Order: sequence, then structure tokens, then C-alpha cells
Amino acid sequence: MTAPRVTPQQAWDALVAGNRRFIDGGPQHPRQDVERRNELTNGQVPDAALFGCSDSRLAAEIIFDAGLGDLFIARNMGHVVAESITASMEYAVANLGVAVIVVLAHDSCGAVAAAIGQMEQEPTAVPIAVQNTLAPILPSVQELWLREHRDTPYVDVSAIDADAVGRVHLAATVNQLLRSSRIISDAVAAGRLGIVGCQYQLSEGRAVAVSAVGHLDITAAEPVAAA
Ligand SMILES: [Zn+2]
Repeated sequence: MTAPRVTPQQAWDALVAGNRRFIDGGPQHPRQDVERRNELTNGQVPDAALFGCSDSRLAAEIIFDAGLGDLFIARNMGHVVAESITASMEYAVANLGVAVIVVLAHDSCGAVAAAIGQMEQEPTAVPIAVQNTLAPILPSVQELWLREHRDTPYVDVSAIDADAVGRVHLAATVNQLLRSSRIISDAVAAGRLGIVGCQYQLSEGRAVAVSAVGHLDITAAEPVAAA
């Protein structure tokens, strides 16, 4: 077990500061030069891990204005917890000593939209691998749909708020990550690790923290201009 070098709060605050620079249009592009590359030849010591959707607009090092060796990242379509994801995050926590895991969802997620399509009475045909990958999102679609529509279990895509489904799925993803790993859950319980669920707003470039588990305060570090 590699002990974290910073607190969950410090790791999160650094990400918030980087995202703020990106939002304001003044990124520093830190630690992306030849010196940094050479410095990392013999190892990596990132303080943060990120598990997010594969969407090309969520380029993690760019939106958090981070550099080489700063973020340990795993992404897949719709940020769906799978064994490879759990293993990657466990490695980051146990072997690299990250102090925070950011779970990054976003507005207008194509995977969430596709999952909603799978809940229609006549679902769109998708390849089996896609169908299996989207399956963990379906309970979130169902939960939100049945909150307001008791007359049919089949979703009308024009009558459901896809971004709201995305927020339910984000919370479910954080919970699933905790359930899938004793290493991750124990690190949270010991105060070594925080997990922050973020919803990324495409238009502003803002990663809005919507939930957190562990010893960190996400409200204190919220960018001043948040509105
Ligand atoms: Zn997405």
C-alpha cells in the first residue's frame, strides 16, 4: 500500500484550481515539457485518478489544466463500472497513492441517450458489446422514468430529461465503485481517499462537483464565479 502524499482535500483543490484556469481561458499547461517527461521516466506519482466518459470533449488533462503524470485515468462510454475500471482505480489507490478519484459525467452524453433508447418499447438495435456496456445505465433510466410515469414501463425518449438521467447514473456509478472494491472503500473509511462525482458542463467547461464521499469538502473549493 502506497500512502498518499496529499490529503483528499488538497488533491481536489488542485483539480478545482486547474479547472478554474481552463474555464477562464488562462490555462498554464503545467508540467508538459521535456524536463517533466524526463523526470517521469522512472515512475509516476499522481495524486488524482479520474474515471470518466470517453466523450472526446472531456479531455481530462485539458479541462483540469494538468500535466504529464498528474492524472491516472480510465474512461469508457457512459462511465460504466466494469472489472477493468475497478482494477485500474484500485491500482491508483493502492500502488500509486492517489488521494482522490473523480468520477466525471457530462451533459448531452451519447451513452446515456443510447441507454434511454434501449428502454423504449421498440429499442434500437445496437451491437451486443454496446448493449452489455450500456446495461448498467438502464436502472437509472428506469428509476427516473417511473418517478413520473406510472402508466408504462416503456420510456418515451421525448418525455425524459436525459441530463437528469445522467445525474442519477453518476450517483449510481460512485456507489457502484464503492461496492465493487474493498480497497477503495477501506481507503475512504481510513480518510486517505475521497471520491467526487462531477457533472461536466460542455458550454462553460466547468466540472461541477455534485457529490462527494470521504473527508473532503467540495463546497469550500467551488469556483467563486459558479452560477
Ligand atoms: Zn458521455
